[in-house]
Amino acid sequence: MKDISRSKSAALYEKAKTYFPGGVNSPVRAFKSVYGTPLFIERGDGSHIWDADGNEFIDFCCSWGPLILGHNDGRIRESVINALPQGLSFGAPTELENELAELILTNNKYIQKLRFVSSGTEAVMSAIRLARGHTKRDKIIKFEGCYHGHSDSLLVKAGSGLVTFGETSSLGVPTSFAAETIVLPLNDKQALQEAFAQFEGQVAAVIIEGIPANDGLLIQEQHYIEYLRAITQENGALLIFDEVITGFRLGFEGAAAYYGIQPDIITYGKIIGGGMPVGAYGASEELMSCISPDGGVYQAGTLSGNPIAMAAGIAQLNVLNTDGFYEGLATKTKNLVDALTAYIDARNYQVKVFSIASIFWIAFTDKSSIRSADEIDANSMEKYKVFHRALLNRGVYLGPSGYEVGFVSAAHTQDDLDKALTAMKEGLDLVFV
Ligand SMILES: *Cc1c(COP(=O)(O)O)cnc(C)c1O
Repeated sequence: MKDISRSKSAALYEKAKTYFPGGVNSPVRAFKSVYGTPLFIERGDGSHIWDADGNEFIDFCCSWGPLILGHNDGRIRESVINALPQGLSFGAPTELENELAELILTNNKYIQKLRFVSSGTEAVMSAIRLARGHTKRDKIIKFEGCYHGHSDSLLVKAGSGLVTFGETSSLGVPTSFAAETIVLPLNDKQALQEAFAQFEGQVAAVIIEGIPANDGLLIQEQHYIEYLRAITQENGALLIFDEVITGFRLGFEGAAAYYGIQPDIITYGKIIGGGMPVGAYGASEELMSCISPDGGVYQAGTLSGNPIAMAAGIAQLNVLNTDGFYEGLATKTKNLVDALTAYIDARNYQVKVFSIASIFWIAFTDKSSIRSADEIDANSMEKYKVFHRALLNRGVYLGPSGYEVGFVSAAHTQDDLDKALTAMKEGLDLVFV
């Protein structure tokens, strides 16, 4: 297979390796799970990106989700440009924070108050602290296959044994921290029951991704989420929806509205900042009154509510809040997924496209559903590597790991999707030759 030229990217990568660990500022960017060196991106416009060698791609990574309107959207650009001359940061309140908060709170019945932070990690870390502060309990339950950012409490994976404390999934995380995090398999009511029995009166919160989408796309069933709501309530624990991906993606009110379930705390990130670094966590008035300076749970940020970032978020969310936005995006995605699935079925290829709203995951499996991390076959990732390379060579950019989902943006045109479909079909033919 003749590969696209990556010589300029490769040279930049060599240089970057002398500056940054692994040459990157976030690990997955290093292309360790796919072929070749990472592509250095020069610019993006609409659904397309261009790398340093001048290669053009239809982008389904979309900065890992934030760019639901695509790259370089004119409305966001205008909003940012208008905010720029007033200054970049004050560390004092600005009206723009009110504006973004009002836009969110008047259109989302699942939270009454919120606090802006600068990343998803920070939002989740703060939500956990709020849950612990409010319940006066220390333990949290998370699920294998959910990612919640890189704070210490959450870099924990399942330990050995049936119900036990987690093990750290990173060096540098104290084992005493991991001991406060219980890690359970998704889609397993009995495991939850046993954990609540074993740690009676100690669990502050259960945290789950709105739709787990960081380890494949592990779509949970309605009854399981309802069970989560019920069992947390019965045990005096809070339910946290980590909606850093699903917030403003499944709909303006995210997964909470998708399930019609009221969680106690919701975290946001990615889309909320329109491509700028913004995160947020929100809850009821009562819960949020625990946060400093009203209450005793401390949480702060020098650049929180940054005016330029707020301006980008306001512009993006205003577009998302228009009638028919999500329906249009979902239809577009479904058409792509259905067409690809029809091709797969016709050839009997062992691959499945899981999808919800504008999220899709191409999984090399023969299972008709995958709802927990242990159902993912690690060996299938070799097939993804071949597929990923074939797609790059055909001008389609997917996340550089088979565990990553793809995102369709409002900027993807029918022509983009037709071209991508052709490339995906050819890519699959290459995988299964
Ligand atoms: C991306 C992500 C995070 C972390 O957000 P950052 O902005 O990368 O810190 C947390 N939770 C979920 C569900 C995410 O997808």
